[in-house]
Amino acid sequence: MKDTTPHRPELLAPAGSLEKLQLAVSYGADAVYCAGQKYGLRAAAENLTDIELARGVAFAHKHGSQVFVTLNALLHDEDMEGLGEFCRYLESIGVDAVIVADLGVMDVVQEFSSLPIHLSTQASCLNTASAKLWKSLGVKRIVVARELTIEETATIRDEADIEVEMFIHGAMCMAYSGKCTISNFTAGRDSNRGGCIQSCRFSYGHTPLPSSQSSMKLPIIAPGVEGTPGARHFMSSKDLHGLEHLTDFITHKIDSLKVEGRMKSPFYVASVVRSYRKALDALLEGNPLTTIDSSELDAAPHREYCSGSLATPAGSESIYTQGGGSQERASHKYLGLVLAKEDDLIAIRLHAGVELGDTIEFLLFDGSVLPLTLSKMQEVSGNPLEKAHQDSVLCIPLENNSGIEAGNVVRMRTLAQQEAA
Ligand code: SF4
Repeated sequence: MKDTTPHRPELLAPAGSLEKLQLAVSYGADAVYCAGQKYGLRAAAENLTDIELARGVAFAHKHGSQVFVTLNALLHDEDMEGLGEFCRYLESIGVDAVIVADLGVMDVVQEFSSLPIHLSTQASCLNTASAKLWKSLGVKRIVVARELTIEETATIRDEADIEVEMFIHGAMCMAYSGKCTISNFTAGRDSNRGGCIQSCRFSYGHTPLPSSQSSMKLPIIAPGVEGTPGARHFMSSKDLHGLEHLTDFITHKIDSLKVEGRMKSPFYVASVVRSYRKALDALLEGNPLTTIDSSELDAAPHREYCSGSLATPAGSESIYTQGGGSQERASHKYLGLVLAKEDDLIAIRLHAGVELGDTIEFLLFDGSVLPLTLSKMQEVSGNPLEKAHQDSVLCIPLENNSGIEAGNVVRMRTLAQQEAA
């Protein structure tokens, strides 16, 4: 009999720290990807120590999720030291796979462990012949280049008979993932060794050189100061938003849907993971895509959204010409995380200040939102408070606190949202 069970893609979330790993799993990720202190591609993220990796794997496995560790920086000889021992360690703590971009790194992984290997998007796999070759070398899954459509990716999966993973949400790179050296030249930081400073997000202008200084007749392109006449954001990509394509991901049997953002806040991780978890579950239960509310994806800071190359190759419509920060597009402000709950008291570690009369919201692990107008606040010692400051611990007496759990994200509507309500 024909199997009519709908394909259930894995929801894969970024974990830039142990705390974010735990949040991603608690808010519904099937798997997370993270890095140790070396070899990954996000040098500026907190990343996880060896002990934290072991704790993260134990936490994820206890909740039925998997952990993939990135070894996807393009390493020079001097960066390879200790890689084999690290692979042995990852295997010993039960890591489920490593993500690799370089043939030499892959060879070391295979020499020192039996860890399953996922090919990083940094390797820019764009065609079936390449996927077949990687498979023959021992790769289990291809994280395809972001320049592929869902349909092209499905063809590769069918013809190369290999697992495929696609980005569904988050910031984009204007180069073929990471194959860009703007940060190397402008900031002395190597994009492909985790040092990208997102130079493509800046505005740039044409500066004609005085003829005495240039043998060329061409203008040079230089970073512009914000507001400089003529300076424009012409390389900054909008953020990817793949919710509208969820049905296509499912019908084309894409194995894993990846959310970008190991450098992003716990608030981003919680909101985005919960949104896609809710939407995927609803679709798999047979609800139409049109009934799915995507507003939660606007909660955390983000650039204007686009659908990248998911349906057709991205063009000029995917350039975020306005530039500027992503905070103003957020419907909510991040206030902190619930540290603990005891009987009728909630303790919150504050990321931003609050005062009596503010209406805050708890984002629960099942995706529901619990609003609360602050009528009583106190210090840990019990002293009453009218205002609580960033980086302090706030206690809220609350008799009816059912549903709230340690680790829940606490947030507040932005002023613009409050005025619009
Ligand atoms: S500067 Fe921009 S285009 Fe270059 S690697 Fe970084 S994100 Fe990609």
